[in-house]
This record gives sequence, structure tokens and C-alpha cells, in this order.
Amino acid sequence: MEKSAALEKIALKIRACRKCGLSDERIQAVPGDGSPSASLMMVGEGPGRQEDEEGKPFVGAAGRLLNELLVEIGLAREEIYITNVVKCRPPGNRDPLPGEKEICLPYLREQVALIHPRLICPLGNHALSTLLKTEETISRMHGRAVLKGGLVFFPLYHPAAALYNVNLRKTMEKDFANLAELLKKERILL
Ligand code: URA
Repeated sequence: MEKSAALEKIALKIRACRKCGLSDERIQAVPGDGSPSASLMMVGEGPGRQEDEEGKPFVGAAGRLLNELLVEIGLAREEIYITNVVKCRPPGNRDPLPGEKEICLPYLREQVALIHPRLICPLGNHALSTLLKTEETISRMHGRAVLKGGLVFFPLYHPAAALYNVNLRKTMEKDFANLAELLKKERILL
């Protein structure tokens, strides 16, 4: 099966999923968005209000900041694939619960296996701990590459954290510049 059709099949399963309580509260699930053959994948925490309304990841304020940071290093969203640890909005934008993350994880695993990106950026602590099975925090692991299970990860702060914190935005700009260096060195996208 063609990659985009296979990815859409996963998206259909996600949209029909009723495995946890988040599905009772959602307007719609947010499977992910971007290129099925992306060599760079970014993984956030979970949809917010606007994502829940539109069915697409990172379309609110944090998404606009993410877009700016991507543009600054010469990348467009369409070239990468963006998804979240949980595919449905936690009510009131609370943190996703451990059980919700666990139940949703097979979808993320399927997406990673299918897209097979060369680099994965966990955005923030939830994506970091889910993908890397680590108790380390993003403040210790951001901005450098880590190899785990045959995959290369490059953890980044969650863009929402930098929305109202100028210093963190500067840190994120540096991390994105380091990411660009790595992509160039490895001849990925840039
Ligand atoms: N925050 C996330 O973690 N994901 C989104 O899709 C939007 C905001």
C-alpha cells in the first residue's frame, strides 16, 4: 500500500478511537499532518482547543511560534510530519494522564514505523518521556541529538513554553540553529 494511504488508514483508526475518556470530550481527533515521507518528525503533547476544532496539530498560538522557528531555519511545515503523543484534546488543556498516553502510544508507534523519519524531535517533557522512556527533563536534554532504539532524537522545548518567555524563545532559536546544523551535516532536508 502507498505510504500516504497507509498513513490515512492510521488516521481513520484514530478518528474512530474510543479507547479512553478523551474521546468523550473531543470535537475531533487530531492524527497528525505533513509529508508521509518526511525525514523529520516533530511530536508534541496533545491537541489544544484550536487543534480540536480544526483537526490539525499545532494550528494555535504555539503552532504559529513553531512555524516561525521552522521558517527561520529554512523549513516548511509541509516538508516535515507533525503529530502529538495523545491525539485527542485533554479537557481544559490539562496534562495528558499516564494511562491516556499509554493507550494512545501504539498510534504514534505505527506512525513512526510507517514514516520512518531520520530524525524525531520530541517537543517538551511529555513527548520526551514517552518517546525516550527517560525521567530526564527537557531542560537537561534539549538541543542535542540522542540515539535510542536505532532512532535519532533531537529533543526541543515545547513552543508553548516559549510563548511568553523571551529567554526561552532565544534558547529555542539556538536549539533550532543546532538542529539545522545537524540536518545539513546529515544531508536531511537542508
Ligand atoms: N500543543 C501540542 O502539544 N500540540 C498541538 O497540536 C498544539 C499545541
